[in-house]
Amino acid sequence: MKIHEYQAKQILAKYGVAVPKGEMATTYEEASAAATKLLKDGASGVVVKAQIHAGGRGKGGGVKVARSLEEANEYIKKILGMQLVTHQTGPAGQKVQRLLIEETAAIDRELYLGIVLDRATGKLVFMASQAGGMEIEEVAAKTPEAIFKETINPAVGFGSWQARKLAFALGLKPTQINAAVAFLQSLYKAFIDTDASLVEINPFITTKDDKLFALDAKITFDDNALFRHADIRELRDLAEEDPLEVEASKYALNYIKLDGTIACMVNGAGLAMATMDIIQYAGGSPANFLDVGGGATQEQIEHAFEILLSDPNVKAIFINIFGGILRVDRLATGVVAAARNLNVKVPIVLRLEGTNVEEGRKILAESGFNFQVGATMKEAADMVVAAAKVGA
Ligand code: GDP
Ligand code: MN
Repeated sequence: MKIHEYQAKQILAKYGVAVPKGEMATTYEEASAAATKLLKDGASGVVVKAQIHAGGRGKGGGVKVARSLEEANEYIKKILGMQLVTHQTGPAGQKVQRLLIEETAAIDRELYLGIVLDRATGKLVFMASQAGGMEIEEVAAKTPEAIFKETINPAVGFGSWQARKLAFALGLKPTQINAAVAFLQSLYKAFIDTDASLVEINPFITTKDDKLFALDAKITFDDNALFRHADIRELRDLAEEDPLEVEASKYALNYIKLDGTIACMVNGAGLAMATMDIIQYAGGSPANFLDVGGGATQEQIEHAFEILLSDPNVKAIFINIFGGILRVDRLATGVVAAARNLNVKVPIVLRLEGTNVEEGRKILAESGFNFQVGATMKEAADMVVAAAKVGA
């Protein structure tokens, strides 16, 4: 689960991480009042920052530094409600519905800090770089040696010696080292306590008066651990997520929207991946990833259908099921019910194997609907690609 920058900063502040003073606002009035207050309290300027679940906002025009209230108001008007396009949003962009109004910092250096899970070693890695502020992916690709890494032993945790090593690698002044060590340790503690999967501070800045701040903050949480963090679950902003994905999550369906024309309904993530591959191989393109899970109920199947059909790009549906725990006859009953209730018009191609497959095929054949059934995955994929072309 992703959260906004202002929320990440609130969490980090609880762990003693220094963040600039600021306030979140959803309206022009709120934002302008926040800017007025910061300037009255002595800030030399304010930053108007678009809050969307994507990075690269600065380059896209979603982060602006204002030196006066008039200037701040101008930026607030411009950014609030804008369709912000960054390299992470896709060409359609994301509508800005929240702003963070923050006091400006007198930046001396822009550095980078990040904690991620290295799936190859199964351990957390603490990364630090002097090349902060810019896209870290680009730094990693072009000058990997500019990123310093400390692998964290899970039994021991993040050692203070490791924090010192990274602080020195960042080229910090002797007077900044101790504060930096405490800063890094706080980040690590926040990561562990919240069951995060990513914590990233880009830029991590030093100021002209030798202070350290998280100027930007990103935290992503492990969805599988959210059950033990009621407070973090509250931070979810559904406006930032794809509406179909939100709908699917209500019914415990693993759905990810894609931009093709062939809707897929599959049980098991591995089979779902293979199904998407074979559609591509047959010359089509998948409209989604959908894993209905091992023990899908008829109700879940119906909801899954509803979600697939509400994507206007869908020209055909491919149902690829291996009946293990989910019995094929039960699936077939669900499919027929859904086709009837939802008045499905697009062609449906199925490939079925497993428990009660014969009963399942019989239910489909006697349903009165014109379902097409492929004998193998490849045959069914060819059939659905052909059907989608006719529908297009
Ligand atoms: P991102 O582009 O989505 O990663 O957003 P950031 O929060 O990282 O902001 C982008 C850039 O804006 C930073 O790298 C800074 O250079 C600049 N910026 C952000 N806040 C301030 C500030 O308080 N003062 C100044 N001078 N620049 C800032
Ligand atoms: Mn940033």
